[in-house]
This record gives sequence, C-alpha cells and structure tokens, in this order.
Amino acid sequence: MEYRRLGKSGLQLSVLSFGSWVTFHGQVDDSLSDRLMGLAYDSGINFFDNAEIYALGESEKMMGRVLKKKNWDRTSYTVSSKAYFGWRGTNNKPNQTGLSRKHLVEACNEALQRMQLDYLDLFYCHRPDRNVPIEEVVWTMTNLIQQGKILYWGTSEWTAAEIMHANMIARQYNLIGPVVEQPEYNLFRREKVEVEYAQIYKNEGLGTTIFSPLASGILTGKYNKGVPEGSRLSLEGYEWLRNRNLLDENLARVAILQTVADQLGTSLATLAVAWCIANPHVTSAILGATKEEQLKENLKALEVYPKFTKEVMHEIDTIMGT
Ligand code: NDP
Repeated sequence: MEYRRLGKSGLQLSVLSFGSWVTFHGQVDDSLSDRLMGLAYDSGINFFDNAEIYALGESEKMMGRVLKKKNWDRTSYTVSSKAYFGWRGTNNKPNQTGLSRKHLVEACNEALQRMQLDYLDLFYCHRPDRNVPIEEVVWTMTNLIQQGKILYWGTSEWTAAEIMHANMIARQYNLIGPVVEQPEYNLFRREKVEVEYAQIYKNEGLGTTIFSPLASGILTGKYNKGVPEGSRLSLEGYEWLRNRNLLDENLARVAILQTVADQLGTSLATLAVAWCIANPHVTSAILGATKEEQLKENLKALEVYPKFTKEVMHEIDTIMGT
C-alpha cells in the first residue's frame, strides 16, 4: 500500500480506501462486510468512509459492528462520516438536515453512537448549504475538533470558491479550515478535480478523497452486455444513477478503453482505478465493492498505475474525448 499526506495536514491516508455507500445493509450483510473490511485492512487500507444518509444510518451501524468485532488498534485506521442529508429520509424535519450548528453537532454525536466510536478522524459537510452562514459551519467544525469529537473536517462537492471562503474565515478568526474535499472523480467526470480545484491544492493545502472511481461500475465494462442481475444499476431506487451513468456514449468509450487495458495486461476496473490514483492531487480513491474478488481486482491498481506513460495517458484522453 502507498500512503499519501492529506493536503497540508499531517494525516496519512492509504491511496486506496474503502466506502460503504449502497453496499452495507443494502447489498452486503454483516458477515460479508466483515470479510470486505478485513481484506481492505489486511491490504493496508487505513481509511473507511461512511455518511449519516447511507442506508439511513444502518451503514454506520454495520461498519461500527465490524470495527468493534475486529478490535483493531484504533490508532491504525481512520474513519469518516458526513452530515447534510440527515438519516430519516422523507421523515426529516427542519434542523435534521443541512449544515446548521444544531445539525452538525447532533449528526456527529449520532454517527459516533452508531459506529460505537469515541471520535471520527474525518467529518465532512456532505454538500454545501447555502442557507447557513459559512462562519457557523467553520465555528462548529472548530468546536468539534476542540472537543475531540473529530480530528479533521472537510467538504464534499463544494465549489472551489466555497472552500476558499471557509479557509478565509478560518484565517480571519483563528479557526480551523477544511483540509479535504470529497469530489466525484473518474474517467467520465474530471472537471472539478482537474480544472476547478487546480488553483487551491497548493494555495489552500487541499487534499482529496475521491468517490465513485468506477462510475458505479460502468468503468468495469460489465454493463456493456446489458445490466447484470444484482449489480448496482439493477437495483430499485437507483434510476437516477442509471440515468446519469448508463449512457450509450459512456458504454461505447468503455468498449474502446478495453484495448488499453489489454495492452497493459490488466482489467478495465483496475485500469480505471489506477487512472484515478495516477493523479497526484488524489490523496485517496475510495473503493466500493460487493464481493471480495472485486476489491482484490481494484487493489491491483497499485501495481498498474506506475505503468502509465505519457503515451498511455494520451491514448486514454483521446478515447475519453478530453
Ligand atoms: P465505484 O464507482 O467504484 O462503484 C463501486 C461499485 O462498482 C461496487 O459496489 C460494485 O457494485 C461495482 N464494482 C466494484 N468493483 C468492481 C469490479 N472489479 N468488477 C465489477 N464490479 C465492480 O465507487 P462508489 O460509487 O461505491 O463510491 C465509493 C465510495 O465513495 C462510497 O462507498 C462512499 O464511501 C463514497 N461516496 C461518496 C459520495 C459523496 O457524495 N461524498 C457519493 C458516492 C460515493 P455492484 O457489485 O453492485 O455492481
């Protein structure tokens, strides 16, 4: 495993990490989540990602049960959660979502309870909340750090301007700014990571933990022959994800990408993950998996990404139309 420093912070994260969205409680039971996290940890993964909204709190509970059972040295791994969407779904009342001080503090306490942890290593604002003053968010996150409930805080899918604003407030009032952004990044979605944030990696010392490196599985090539039964894009309730990713144009590009994978003697899945971590601005790529074989295949990205020459990168860019 390779470890990268998270932006300007002192924290080192494994360049591949593991998240539980859709999978834990939805597709994966306690026994499989135990095996997946065990495989991840034994492979050197030291960052596990979660959020209050995943399976409406059940994902955090499942991860918490695994962590308790494994009883790994707490200093050897990091765990995150995220607040914004709430965990009560359609029953969310005012103040049970968003980034108010009230919701952030309560979401943090609830995540700690569900995961049976004393502190979160990383706590994210899952989306920007334009109804809450940024000062309130920065104060609250600073307070949570001072109380020892979280160690670092970050953002997810914020604009570069919003991240800079939060850091400006932190500097102005001697508070603690965000050190990490969690954006989507994969061969189809590059703009934010490669263009929008380009100016803030250095200036703001920003690290990134990127999500959906396989665009929910499209980049494995398995959707090129139809939608496999039980796969994420076959699941009820994920029409929005299908509409977003399962596009003829995407499938056509994936089919051509197979030639590059063949040249490198690797699979499409491994190639797509390797491509993400070949970007030095990516601190960690968060993997998702419903099977141990998938995780093993994706972990091979560590061996493959050093093989990416300028020519290979150029070929990939041409295929992806960038
Ligand atoms: P991916 O895009 O990598 O999709 C993972 C899914 O693809 C798996 O669950 C599996 O689904 C399929 N898959 C993975 N590997 C393979 C393989 N080798 N062969 C075939 N199929 C494979 O990542 P996610 O979208 O799951 O995102 C990863 C993590 O990022 C999440 O768990 C979460 O922690 C975080 N995240 C954060 C978001 C945010 O807003 N901050 C949003 C989304 C995710 P299946 O077997 O069901 O087809």
